[in-house]
Amino acid sequence: MSGNNWDVLVVGAGVGGLCAAARLAHHGYRTLVVERLDRVGGRASTDVVDGFTINNGAVAVELGGVTEQTFADVGAKFEVRPVDPPILYRINGKDVDVSSGGWGLLISQLTRQGATLLKGIGAARQDSGLPARELSTADWVRRYTKNDAVQGIFRNMCGSVFAVGSEELPARVFLTYFTRKSAFKRFGFCPDGTIGIWKSLAEVVEREGGAVWLDSEVQRLEVTDGRISGARIRRGGEIVDITCGVAVSDIGPSATLDLVGPEHLPSDYVGTVLQGDLPCAMISVNFASREPLVSAPGLLSFARTRRLCYIANFTTVCPEMAPEGWHLYVGAGVPKPSVGDFDPEAEAALVLQDLREEIPGFEQARILSIVVNRDEWPPQRAVAGYDMPHSTPIPNLWNVGDGVKEYANGGVTACAETAKVVVEEIVLSGVGQPV
Ligand SMILES: Cc1cc2nc3c(=O)[nH]c(=O)nc-3n(C[C@H](O)[C@H](O)[C@H](O)COP(=O)(O)OP(=O)(O)OC[C@H]3O[C@@H](n4cnc5c(N)ncnc54)[C@H](O)[C@@H]3O)c2cc1C
Repeated sequence: MSGNNWDVLVVGAGVGGLCAAARLAHHGYRTLVVERLDRVGGRASTDVVDGFTINNGAVAVELGGVTEQTFADVGAKFEVRPVDPPILYRINGKDVDVSSGGWGLLISQLTRQGATLLKGIGAARQDSGLPARELSTADWVRRYTKNDAVQGIFRNMCGSVFAVGSEELPARVFLTYFTRKSAFKRFGFCPDGTIGIWKSLAEVVEREGGAVWLDSEVQRLEVTDGRISGARIRRGGEIVDITCGVAVSDIGPSATLDLVGPEHLPSDYVGTVLQGDLPCAMISVNFASREPLVSAPGLLSFARTRRLCYIANFTTVCPEMAPEGWHLYVGAGVPKPSVGDFDPEAEAALVLQDLREEIPGFEQARILSIVVNRDEWPPQRAVAGYDMPHSTPIPNLWNVGDGVKEYANGGVTACAETAKVVVEEIVLSGVGQPV
């Protein structure tokens, strides 16, 4: 038991968990990370299949924001190769770079009647110009134009950043993100797969005196006098009990509730967590070809697709992700509906149909996998705008990750942000303070 007293227990080695753990370890907290799987990264991890480096979730990592700042703050290696231009839009058969022309250039390529829509985006820069919370992005766009290509671009932007369709994403979230936040303007790919950067954060935890237990599962968080006092962990074939001053959970508010036991939490909190458990869904097709199929060096997005939101082209900047002579891609789409039930086979067929129509040569490509992410392994644990708070009624228990995002944020960036905010609160609260 003597080696099993920790300042902080972090449940789960996903993005939020590792960003929080590395920051806390860097602050001097003795930090234990426990991960059920045999590797780090959670839904931003990577497999190598037949020499192809295949990400199981996040592919594009934002540059210049809170994620990169986390690595700088803790002294970890951040190997993300920028792509330039980051994204091209396929409009009327042409792949258009709007990186220097912004919204004006994008909308002008789609419709001659875009002036009022541009005005609407401009107005949203003031709080008074933001729409009511319940209006969807699709309905907001419809106020300005009936043009299908404009609707298509907005739908695919919602899918790419927030993993929901424009019918499901509040316009207020979309506009807040694109007028006030970093808005994914610069990003890149990781040559070792996205797992590469999370391994660096795990190394920081260990370097600073903490530990990362893989193949281990937190089975229960112990509550004593209304506070988390420790945990029961399955480590390999053994059961280990630990004590901790603080617990940070990266497994989502609903799974955290199960570990604590609802009897230890107020019923209104339990009700809100259960009601708010609305994960999104996404369908990814990993494919490779000996011939280049896409000229965009980063992401290619679309104006007129059924489900396909983007294709990521990895091997232009990261050739080591595929065996020599091969080009590696993933096509990703959100189903309809992207929250709640849908027919996975029919929806995957629509993504494939889009790929066949948009990408000459796709029929000859080697399909490496078709993955439907949903339920327990979603692209986002909560629709942006409907997240749970990161704090809990238990004063030394916090949640991080994409179920507790700050308003109008998404993906890896949002998870790194939750970790930063939570660590600041932990340090300020003085709980579990290292001696
Ligand atoms: C297909 C897809 C594409 C995406 N594309 C992008 C993208 O391009 N860019 C981007 O920024 N974001 C993208 N995202 C979103 C991004 O991957 C997620 O937002 C992020 O990885 C979620 O991290 P998290 O901190 O919430 O933790 P999670 O990834 O959910 O990690 C939680 C970890 O906890 C472990 N765990 C669960 N229960 C226990 C337990 N009891 N004990 C111990 N361990 C436990 C799990 O195994 C897991 O490893 C994508 C996601 C998907 C699925």
